[in-house]
Amino acid sequence: MPKQSPIPDELDKPFYDACNEERLVIQYCTSCRRYQFPPRPGCTRCGNNASVQWRQLSGRGRIVSRVVVHDTPTSSLIPEQPFNVAAIALDEEPDIIMLSHLPGTPVDQVPIGAAVEVIFETTPATGQKVPEWRVAG
Ligand SMILES: [Zn+2]
Repeated sequence: MPKQSPIPDELDKPFYDACNEERLVIQYCTSCRRYQFPPRPGCTRCGNNASVQWRQLSGRGRIVSRVVVHDTPTSSLIPEQPFNVAAIALDEEPDIIMLSHLPGTPVDQVPIGAAVEVIFETTPATGQKVPEWRVAG
């Protein structure tokens, strides 16, 4: 499914640079010992900027919910309708959710609870890679 190319800014550039190397990284606060996503200038819990660092994840998660989109306002996605939007809970921090179209999984056949693994798709406009997820195994 063709995706729009994100334009990285100062805050999320480490995330997108890692995507281009096919690595999934998110912020981790060493004071609170917790991950956070999307990126913020500092820890959203303790407010400390210096304790936030980027950490690489396993790229594994589980499907916790899903919807099927039949009527998107995004013109580039209209030819792909209907399509999946699944919520992926990360193995390292299940409170953090990333969204996926689950390429390769037909609509209405999304296995809730199934393990998924990250892949990286190249967006056509700029070549920026973005994370996507597929059912593992
Ligand atoms: Zn913190």
